[in-house]
Amino acid sequence: MTETCWIRGSCWLWCRRDGVLVMWLGDARTEAESAPVYACGPCVEHLAAKVKRHATARYGFTETSYRQKNPTPY
Ligand SMILES: [Zn+2]
Repeated sequence: MTETCWIRGSCWLWCRRDGVLVMWLGDARTEAESAPVYACGPCVEHLAAKVKRHATARYGFTETSYRQKNPTPY
């Protein structure tokens, strides 16, 4: 598991605040450009809730609940 690295910067998601602790979420890509996307703690939590709702609606379970029901056998 990778350790989360927080840096001070601008949140690219809902709050759009500057000078807050943010973490790198990945790269956003348009037709011609790409850029690293950073988000603050509250926006990361909001995004995580949306991802969880999507995964539950689409697959009927989340990766975390699947792992809890099917632990690695070692
Ligand atoms: Zn934010």
